[in-house]
Amino acid sequence: MIELVSESKCVSCGQCVSVCPTRVFDESPEGLPIIARQDDCQTCFMCELYCPVDALYVAPQEHPVKAPEEQELEMAGLLGSYREKVGWGRGRSPGAANDTSYLMLKEMQKLPGH
Ligand code: SF4
Ligand code: SF4
Repeated sequence: MIELVSESKCVSCGQCVSVCPTRVFDESPEGLPIIARQDDCQTCFMCELYCPVDALYVAPQEHPVKAPEEQELEMAGLLGSYREKVGWGRGRSPGAANDTSYLMLKEMQKLPGH
């Protein structure tokens, strides 16, 4: 569930507001996203994926957790960590590049009847 927007990192691009399928965020007059409807979060991680500056933290739990401190998240490397793992962002390798399932498909094609 979405837990934190880093006001110090956010560049007010509006991407998270646009991609959220359940309209969890409102936009402040300054363009900062506000977590307005946390209960509507589906823990889909789309906002974290699209944030260009790793300003968001989505916890893997589907219920609210104890409000995390930004400094703790930063030190633990958790801000934007899902985006990093998936390989989105400048200078990163997309996780799909490591997908070897095509090898399994090639083997399957050798089986009789394929
Ligand atoms: S995790 Fe998904 S549903 Fe939750 S705030 Fe982000 S985009 Fe919206
Ligand atoms: S995507 Fe990131 S930088 Fe853009 S508005 Fe949302 S939190 Fe801010």
